[in-house]
Amino acid sequence: MLRMPLISKNKEGYTGDQVCTVYGEILEQGKVIPKLAHNYEDRKCIVCGTADPSYKPAGPDDGDADSLQTGDNRNVTLWEVLLLAVLETIGIVKKAYKATE
Ligand SMILES: [Zn+2]
Repeated sequence: MLRMPLISKNKEGYTGDQVCTVYGEILEQGKVIPKLAHNYEDRKCIVCGTADPSYKPAGPDDGDADSLQTGDNRNVTLWEVLLLAVLETIGIVKKAYKATE
């Protein structure tokens, strides 16, 4: 008898079925095991990735995501200002160079 390639579908609280990838038959049923407690870290479960339901977004001024976004926007603005300054400087230099010709 051929040995079928097996995949196992592991879920939290379930040992996973041994499934034949060719015929999709469940060769060995997984067992339901006592569900692991969610272990929330950084707003999501490090066991299964579920978002932490107890996490309450902070106010608009001190939420992590919000402050990150604001930081990004500030960086973009800074770079735009720098780019404009550089372009203006190049333009001024070119004009000055042309004026001396
Ligand atoms: Zn979990």
